[in-house]
Amino acid sequence: MTAPSPNPTVTCHLCGSPDLELSVAYPSFHRVTSDCKAWAPGGGLARCRTCGLVQTTVSPAWSAEADRIYQSYTIYHQSGGTEQRVFDGRGGAGRPRSEQIIDALRQAERLPERGRLLDIGCGNGGFLSAWSRLIPGWTLAGTEFDAKYQREVESIPGFERLHFGEVKDIPGTFDVITLIHVLEHIPSPLGLLQQLRDKLNPGGLLLVEVPDCGQNVFMLLVADHCSHFSPPLLAGVVAASGLQVTQATNTWVTKEVSVVARRIDSPASCAAAGTSAIRLPAAESARVFAGERELARIVERVTPLLGRAQFGLFGTAIAATWLDAQTGGAARFFVDEDLNRTGKTHFGRPILAPQDVPCGAAVFVALPPVLSGPVSQRLRALGRDLEVVVP
Ligand SMILES: [Zn+2]
Repeated sequence: MTAPSPNPTVTCHLCGSPDLELSVAYPSFHRVTSDCKAWAPGGGLARCRTCGLVQTTVSPAWSAEADRIYQSYTIYHQSGGTEQRVFDGRGGAGRPRSEQIIDALRQAERLPERGRLLDIGCGNGGFLSAWSRLIPGWTLAGTEFDAKYQREVESIPGFERLHFGEVKDIPGTFDVITLIHVLEHIPSPLGLLQQLRDKLNPGGLLLVEVPDCGQNVFMLLVADHCSHFSPPLLAGVVAASGLQVTQATNTWVTKEVSVVARRIDSPASCAAAGTSAIRLPAAESARVFAGERELARIVERVTPLLGRAQFGLFGTAIAATWLDAQTGGAARFFVDEDLNRTGKTHFGRPILAPQDVPCGAAVFVALPPVLSGPVSQRLRALGRDLEVVVP
């Protein structure tokens, strides 16, 4: 396979540089939408040789694809509209992701009893509801691009107003602003962060939550994500907006990056701001970009299993959806430990609980390494003569 010729009109959407290193393998991969639907191959994965951002190249074609994805977006469609739960690797029902993030934030930073929160891209209000339950003295606001969930969001105790349109037009300032799974979708991430900095009160906090592509290579395949982060890469982008990063971790929620930054207006923070100054850690940037080669290896590992009479994929999220598309729908069944999903179907095929997997079946654990190890141990412990293969 030869590398696609660089498109001179495509530039890095963080720093503007045209010097992009393109992935050779990526155009052959099927993709997945962030609401977990299969999506056709296409698009480009690149690493900016100037600033280090790992990115899906933002072109008019990419923007059109992202618009199509958002027009038919189904929020948390696999769990009937309720918020995704997070798992600690021990199985069971998990807990809402938002509660875990808020608890971790409160342990890391002192939050007052009362304050004003703005949640950018608040969706159906999952994060705002959790905040209202856990810190009820706060006044809450959100933004969205349409009024689809307005009624739901307005019913949250303490909720003040849902805003549409540009961040800079929102009246007032805030003590905390949150961006939960938003920044990776934004083709001008630095511009948004700078606008949010200006909406923070002095000493106010920005919380940014994104997928950790350094821990979970499958997230490189999400068609509507245009920036791919790990803790040091996200910290570098947030710092470039002039905020002071206080936390950059992937320990709050498995497979996710959490960055917290404070507005401290000082000459140093102002001097750090601006696109020409951005230099993300080079070794980390190269490591995250190398995920494209890891994905090619994963396809090689799953290929020998496809001829098996009973072949299944563990998982029903991004990774399993991608591998099923990439292998032409080869899975006879999916396996999940999430009780909200077992008994249902995924692409017309059954989602089995582990104890219901047929004896002697081959199961590929379509999860990043941080989760696939414990899952494979539990599957093997079932004693059903399963061939369990991990990425
Ligand atoms: Zn760049």
